[in-house]
Amino acid sequence: MKRTMNRVILPAVVLMLAVLAAAPVLAAVQVVATLPDLGSVVRYVGGDDVALQVLCPGEMDPHYLPAKPSLARKLAKADLLIYNGLELEVGWLPQLINKARNPDIRPGSRGAVDCSAAIDDLLEVPGANVDRSEGDVHPLGNPHYTLDPRRMVKVAKYVAERLARIDPGHGQAYRERADIFAREVAARLPEWESVTATARQDPIIIYHRNWAYLVDWLQLSVVGEIEHRPGIAPSPRHVEEVIVAGRDLGHLLVLAASWDHRHVAEEVAERAGGVLVVVPAQSGGKGGPADYFSLIDTICRDLAAGARKAEE
Ligand SMILES: [Zn+2]
Repeated sequence: MKRTMNRVILPAVVLMLAVLAAAPVLAAVQVVATLPDLGSVVRYVGGDDVALQVLCPGEMDPHYLPAKPSLARKLAKADLLIYNGLELEVGWLPQLINKARNPDIRPGSRGAVDCSAAIDDLLEVPGANVDRSEGDVHPLGNPHYTLDPRRMVKVAKYVAERLARIDPGHGQAYRERADIFAREVAARLPEWESVTATARQDPIIIYHRNWAYLVDWLQLSVVGEIEHRPGIAPSPRHVEEVIVAGRDLGHLLVLAASWDHRHVAEEVAERAGGVLVVVPAQSGGKGGPADYFSLIDTICRDLAAGARKAEE
């Protein structure tokens, strides 16, 4: 009786083990991106080879994301953490990493990917033209490089290399998809730049310096900045100065992110005689642009519409 069982079961077990050993490893790389636009790039570069979660909802200002336990849980099982760096996430990410107790994504480990390492032309790096008297909210340089698609190409290539390091079997696929992303950006740049041609001739007051890289890319003429420290309302005296600086310039635009203090931006636009342009500063928000390309589409289109209105 026992012998018969062995004769039937053993070959079955051996066969099953052989099948398991021969099967390709299908587990996708578990990736967590802090910001929706970095997530958008990861989705592009990682394709089906990664399982992605994003920490910051699109409608929330990434300077101030509450460090909820649910976010730490997302980090607990991550193979790779893709983040902006330059202290943009300093208010919440270190806490989350501590709570997650995942050695794979601790700073300096193979799974910790600081995308700012890919940007070799950062703006407002201290030592250059930083005005420290105004309080330096981003002491390592302006962290908002995601708003320049040319710099996002560098991020895509960097993400591909870091994915390839952790998942060499798909290295070629990651690099190819990063190249496709680069070609997609190159194909869209002329359209983005031509649609904003008029806006680029108009003087612009920006709300916060989160637009610095967009300004650098599109060569916008910034004549004032409403808020120096994100989330902290500017002094009435400073607002007054910005209004005076913008007045009488003609065709003035006031550019604000959807999470900025709308009433301050409205006051500046109204009293300086400008057109207020409020746009999402990242993708993924409710009812907002779904991915990175539609984010840049939206910003360029709304700037163009603002410029047309300013001419009326
Ligand atoms: Zn900022």
